[in-house]
Amino acid sequence: MRTIEQLTRPNIRGLKPYSSARDEYKGIEASVFLDANENPYSPSYNRYPDPLQHQLKERLAKMKGVDPGQIFLGNGSDEAIDLLFRAFCEPAVDNVVAIDPTYGMYQVCADINDVAYRKVWLDADFQFRADALLAAADEHTKLIFLCSPNNPTGNDLCREEIDHLLDKFDGLVVLDEAYIDFSGQPSYVGQLNRRPNLVVLQTFSKAWGSAAIRLGMAFASPEIIAVFNKIKYPYNVNQLTQEQALRLLSEPEKIQNWVSVLNKERRQLMERFAALPFTEYVFPSDANFFLARVSDAEAIYNYLVGQGIIVRNRHSVSLCGNCLRITVGTSEENNILLEALRKFTMY
Ligand code: PMP
Repeated sequence: MRTIEQLTRPNIRGLKPYSSARDEYKGIEASVFLDANENPYSPSYNRYPDPLQHQLKERLAKMKGVDPGQIFLGNGSDEAIDLLFRAFCEPAVDNVVAIDPTYGMYQVCADINDVAYRKVWLDADFQFRADALLAAADEHTKLIFLCSPNNPTGNDLCREEIDHLLDKFDGLVVLDEAYIDFSGQPSYVGQLNRRPNLVVLQTFSKAWGSAAIRLGMAFASPEIIAVFNKIKYPYNVNQLTQEQALRLLSEPEKIQNWVSVLNKERRQLMERFAALPFTEYVFPSDANFFLARVSDAEAIYNYLVGQGIIVRNRHSVSLCGNCLRITVGTSEENNILLEALRKFTMY
């Protein structure tokens, strides 16, 4: 593997990062803060938050079985995706490789950062071959993106292929596990200590029911995390978010319960969706959504919008012609969807 130093963009390697007021004083019990030009009134939220979110990382580290130094927290996992490009990919020179179809932000971030984005189609069963991704890579490939369970296809990627890619690729393998809590597969976070080229992304937006607080996680070697910390905005995770995340971490049973209810609902909804006359195929899912091929995705999508029900039309996405992506809702919401779709069959 190339070293993290070799993989890092030269300007980032040499960067002198911004040093915030709260970074500079450490370890002393202080009570008078006249260092950050804050307003001393309006208690609770008048002070800048901890730039490195120590308390939250301590709690997360225990739960995930990693060291706090192996965690980066950001404004959604979208922030970590963007930082990966800004840290490692030289615009107009470097490139990344990704499975296709997958989560759209990898390509958007590549385009914003002027980094070539090389897509390698999944097979008909939405699996990938590591060798096909490696064949698309060259000496300017810094990152390879995988997503498991994958969005929009919903399936877990094959672990043997993931392992093979981690063994053979000399850059960073980014494995997006946004939906891992719904899957029967273990997270790759457990492999961090023996995989120096692995970056695992997770989020509070899915199983943790907290898309609104914008909190994403990246797990990687301390060396990679140090690069993220060097270039992130100083106070990228606000105080309200840090507090809310700590509250959530104190009730993990609640999240476990949501996951088991949603997985049960998913099975039921998929079965009923498969029985609708216009459904051609319901793809297997390991996430809190599923992809289904229907006779006319556009017509069904528009009909549902007219009923005030919004699903995702994935017709224009590679390999997803006439496919709708349906998020599993509450039992009541799922019934409203099915009821509306049964009526559509009468048209
Ligand atoms: N990764 C995947 C695979 C996603 O589907 C999404 C959101 N739809 C994200 C990351 C973004 O998550 P966040 O809300 O943490 O930015």
